[in-house]
Amino acid sequence: MNEKNIAPVVTPPLTLASLTSDAINDWCPGCADSGIVLALKNAIVAAGLDLKKTVSISGIGCSSKLPHLVNVNGVHTLHGRPIPFAEGIKLANPELTVIIDSGDGDTYGIGAGHFVSAGRRNVNIKLFVHNNGVYALTKGQASPTLPEGRKVKGIPEPNINGALSPLAIAILAGYTFVGRTQGYNLKEQTDLMVKAIKHKGLALLDIQQGCPTYNPEFTNAAWFSQHLHPLPSDYNGVVSNPTDMDEVNKKKLQAINTLLNETTESLNTGVFFQWENADTFEDRLIKRGIKPPLTQVISDKDGKSTIDLSKVFEELSV
Ligand code: SF4
Ligand code: MG
Repeated sequence: MNEKNIAPVVTPPLTLASLTSDAINDWCPGCADSGIVLALKNAIVAAGLDLKKTVSISGIGCSSKLPHLVNVNGVHTLHGRPIPFAEGIKLANPELTVIIDSGDGDTYGIGAGHFVSAGRRNVNIKLFVHNNGVYALTKGQASPTLPEGRKVKGIPEPNINGALSPLAIAILAGYTFVGRTQGYNLKEQTDLMVKAIKHKGLALLDIQQGCPTYNPEFTNAAWFSQHLHPLPSDYNGVVSNPTDMDEVNKKKLQAINTLLNETTESLNTGVFFQWENADTFEDRLIKRGIKPPLTQVISDKDGKSTIDLSKVFEELSV
């Protein structure tokens, strides 16, 4: 074919419509997950991400249906395991933007070990947790973030357990971006998602999520607008000098102090802590001379493997 006959490849502009998948949204009417998926699409457009280089990951739960509804690469993984999947994908190909959407039960309960250990590594992935205080997909049992004494539909008596503070845990574990928002505030969610996406390092955005089916009393839009307030305008959680450990520690203490002073009836939203340009796991691998699999040559021009695995097979033979 004559080169002149080949049509030029035109990349269409990224729009909300281009992010719409064919999957059916089967969340309950009024579920804040629908607001969160819209905010995520807004954020992907606002951050100018390349759809082919964006990956949406989830675990198991109502919120974990999200990757089906966004027209990017997606993996709906195992209960409590989206973080290791996301880390593996990002480390294999650091050019990708990897975003997890998972629930509070999935992340802070079933996957608690992965949630904490991720902080030690600071892989440049984004963790958006839809936090409704219940395991909604399995009919509303109390999750680790349901406050003590709170009664929800799926438990016979008020909750006997205390609640975790996932944001404080994240800061102490090593997360370098920690924020909170709520699922019925599209603008605030979108802004914070864009900040988290643009942050270099592991970002947690805890999203207070309305579940009108199993936790209607404490997670509706009116309750959120009454009990959730943006951090004070003079609060600054962003570390200005990333190599000044005194400042880093002061900003961590400021965030933890603020979280400890919250009550179950009064929560803040916004960026509690951000330490941009701390060493990521990817940086540490580069310092050791380890290249990501994407950049390694594994086959010749004919597609034949250039990796000699015979030694490995020899060691494994019995
Ligand atoms: Fe949303 Fe709750 Fe319905 Fe699940 S059960 S889809 S979290 S409203
Ligand atoms: Mg939940």
